[in-house]
Amino acid sequence: MNAAGVAVLIAALVAGTGRTSTLDDAVHVPGAQNPTTAAAHARSSPAASGPAHRASMSPRPAANAREAKPKPASGTQVAVRILSKHRPARLRLEGPRSLEVVASGNTLIVEGRPRPSALRLDAGRWHARGRGFDRRYEAALSLEARDGELLVVATFSLEDYVAAVTASETEVDTPFEALRAQAITARSYVLASGKRHDEARACDLTHCQVLRGEGFARHLRRARDAARSTEGTVLRLRGGAIALTPFHASCGGHTAEPVAVFGAPDLSGAAAVPDRCPASPWRAVVPRALVTSAATEVLGGRAQAEDLLLDRDSSGAVVRIVDRASGRTALGDAFFRALGARAGWDRIRSARFTMTLGGDQALLEGQGHGHGVGLCQAGAALLARQGWTAEQLLAHYFPHALPGKLQDK
Ligand SMILES: [Zn+2]
Ligand SMILES: [Zn+2]
Repeated sequence: MNAAGVAVLIAALVAGTGRTSTLDDAVHVPGAQNPTTAAAHARSSPAASGPAHRASMSPRPAANAREAKPKPASGTQVAVRILSKHRPARLRLEGPRSLEVVASGNTLIVEGRPRPSALRLDAGRWHARGRGFDRRYEAALSLEARDGELLVVATFSLEDYVAAVTASETEVDTPFEALRAQAITARSYVLASGKRHDEARACDLTHCQVLRGEGFARHLRRARDAARSTEGTVLRLRGGAIALTPFHASCGGHTAEPVAVFGAPDLSGAAAVPDRCPASPWRAVVPRALVTSAATEVLGGRAQAEDLLLDRDSSGAVVRIVDRASGRTALGDAFFRALGARAGWDRIRSARFTMTLGGDQALLEGQGHGHGVGLCQAGAALLARQGWTAEQLLAHYFPHALPGKLQDK
């Protein structure tokens, strides 16, 4: 496309793309993994991998996880900061008890009375309601007041957590074998990722794994069945460690190379593989100044948009950017995140894109949704409809990992 064509296309597109999005539940695409901060990169970075659960792992993976007798991973619990996005000042809890809880500065007010310490509530089916949220959790709860906000941590059994994440991270029409693959992926990810937050192992946003509480009853039931039928199954790397298994909404036809995206060493067990999912094309027009600002940040020095070279891997993902003026380079994934943080994650949807400059704007055209590494949810759903089992799906997206069982201590 010549420059004039780009200018026309930009003019046609720009009207509808001036919005900066936020990560709102209403627009969340399951598995899109739109990180809200630079720290979100740690979703599969080496630093995010904790050894906490590795000591007790069997180094010998089960040959066929599906037929092995399920051994409940009883006692394994997952503490999750919930309502992370809402950060409510007040909420109403129904369940084993009925309580009104308010944060007043750093003081917790329970049923109108100040409380000197955190409120801890036993495991049960809790219904939490407040401004903009109405959620149900099967968990123990802990509530604290911090700067006028309620910090709510829900502690789930591992399998309840896996079921809730599987339901939250998938579409309602997802075939059962794809749900099973998602359950194993979610279980492996949370165990391998270690503690990612001061107050809890995980949050309930795409930064860790989306957990929206219990939504559609039927979908949750299928997700529970998927968790139960894969209970205790994880993916392991060859050395025996649980794989830090990333997933994303749609790779757009080819998954990305984990080391190119997240750096070495690879902890994911994934590899770049061709996929049969739809291309999921996207287009965004952004100010040229935004590209300059993103590039300047990741290159660590002033850069001009017209000096940038985008290096791609075999999947078409931008794996490196080069500033021809200074010779400086940066990871393509960092550039993608810097662009997304500025322009909105529903606009800059993946690292697989081309960039065309026109006047004071830039046209980005790409495929896929998410970082492209590991399990592709769109592809898994499509292949499962064609008869693939969860084990075949996982072997496809994580060829360097094998399914195995968790062992009780
Ligand atoms: Zn998190
Ligand atoms: Zn795909």
